[in-house]
Amino acid sequence: MKNCISCGMPMKTAAEYAMNDTSKDYCAHCARPDGSMKSFEEQKESLAGFVVKTQGVDKAVAVKTAESMMRKLPAWAGYFS
Ligand SMILES: [Zn+2]
Repeated sequence: MKNCISCGMPMKTAAEYAMNDTSKDYCAHCARPDGSMKSFEEQKESLAGFVVKTQGVDKAVAVKTAESMMRKLPAWAGYFS
């Protein structure tokens, strides 16, 4: 089992991998419709949207939360250094 490098979600079944492809390192939620991985900005937007929905905070706060989540993930850690 791998964790998604882009959002940290554990991927337990093939369906949770991008394009059902277990050789990929990112999950279905972090893939674009064509199967490539979302960019830093796309991922930040989608995480921030998720935080707004689940925590009911302002967008600006949600973006900060998204950034602190992404800082810990292998796909994005390099963007903060
Ligand atoms: Zn993911």
